[in-house]
Amino acid sequence: MIQHHPEPYLLAAYAGGSLPRGAALIVACHLEACVLCRQESGLWNCAGGALLEDVAPAPMSAGALAQMLARLDEDEPQRPAPPSFLSRFGIPEALAAQKIGRRRFVTPSIWFAPVEAPGEVKRGAARTYLVYAKADTVLAEHSHRGREFTHVISGAFSDGTGTYRAGDFALTDDTVHHAPGVTQDGECLCLISAEAPMRLKSFPARLVQAVTGSQY
Ligand SMILES: [Zn+2]
Repeated sequence: MIQHHPEPYLLAAYAGGSLPRGAALIVACHLEACVLCRQESGLWNCAGGALLEDVAPAPMSAGALAQMLARLDEDEPQRPAPPSFLSRFGIPEALAAQKIGRRRFVTPSIWFAPVEAPGEVKRGAARTYLVYAKADTVLAEHSHRGREFTHVISGAFSDGTGTYRAGDFALTDDTVHHAPGVTQDGECLCLISAEAPMRLKSFPARLVQAVTGSQY
């Protein structure tokens, strides 16, 4: 059962379209899994619609209707199938729609794979990625630069703030210093969007980070 949810202000920001792309992807994945937050997000959408009703209508430009109808006729762009290393996981629809890069093992038990959240490509320091770890694996101790949004796709991990299981949402920031550990129950796959690469404590971990182009 889902225990950790986005705060109401995040659901409101998601409904209003003001979250960064990667963070919005994390919230979208949570909403697929969480009926409670879907209902709350629906309320925020209704509130936004009520505000729009107060806005005076603007005249449409010439040809706007034809353009819109032409766009409806266009075929859905072909999306590539998710890579085979994800085939044993039930991945959220919102994630399956993204471009997922090849995975890179940083230890025999841990890999990362980049996700291109639309519009986020090579823009600023934000990065979105998958991180996988085998059961009973501890990730390198780190803190953050800015906020880090997490959606647990499969399995569970614990840190000083709690245990996060499939469907759970986690938000950390530069005040949190942790070494998340995957529980003994099984492997864990998470989707993460960070405003900047993590701040790793140990030299070997920083070396691996540098070798991977500071993608994580
Ligand atoms: Zn929720």
